[in-house]
Amino acid sequence: MSVDHGRRKFLWESAALAGVVLAPGITLYDLAQGRAPEAAAPGTVRWGLLVDMNRCAAGCDACVTACDNENGLSGGKAVTDAQWIRKIDLKDRRGQVRSLPMMCQHCAEPPCVDVCPTGASFKRADGIVLVDKHTCIGCRYCVLACPYGARSFVHEPVANQKPDVPRGKGCVESCTLCVHRIDRDRIPACVEACAAEGHQALLFGDLNDPRSEISQRIAAVAVTQVRADLNLDTAVRYQGL
Ligand code: SF4
Ligand code: SF4
Repeated sequence: MSVDHGRRKFLWESAALAGVVLAPGITLYDLAQGRAPEAAAPGTVRWGLLVDMNRCAAGCDACVTACDNENGLSGGKAVTDAQWIRKIDLKDRRGQVRSLPMMCQHCAEPPCVDVCPTGASFKRADGIVLVDKHTCIGCRYCVLACPYGARSFVHEPVANQKPDVPRGKGCVESCTLCVHRIDRDRIPACVEACAAEGHQALLFGDLNDPRSEISQRIAAVAVTQVRADLNLDTAVRYQGL
């Protein structure tokens, strides 16, 4: 047995002994289904988001509320509560405030995946970075490795569990890019909510398809990645930052 294999076996056994607690109603079948699209996803697609800072309104948190509702988050009511998308206000030299939505950047080279000892952090073939709640042992290496502060640890038993979004005490989680919606040909909840507010600040699409609206916008305007110096090749891009 190799050292690495032995370590993983130890962690698996530790996880089993620790009895990672999943919320009531979540079965192994649900969890297996949640990971199944990894193999099925077409390798040529890379899902991404373009955030237009010129359209994102300071004080608007429709995307945050939509994310909370979609994923069964409690909207920061508890101190330890998870928030998968947050608004960050940035003030420029002239005192003008810009509002920046920040969530998991779905890095092509994700440090969270690199450091995960059990393989629970993984990247799908279409670029979406997820946490398999079944194999997460709650070590939180990924929380420390993520330069965007995108990941959070669930400290308390989960209430209001959504059937499509398995969550559980003792696991790490972050924005899933609303993978359960994408796999049903729907756009992420935050994107939908932003459009419903009339802002259209969030654009979702295939970064690998040069004909997609998101690719054409990225080719036409100045677009940046947050902390581009880290070379993580994020799937979330910002216009006007
Ligand atoms: Fe992982 Fe953080 Fe990158 Fe998301 S933003 S893929 S959690 S390193
Ligand atoms: Fe939340 Fe879905 Fe938007 Fe990610 S894509 S921030 S999970 S609503």
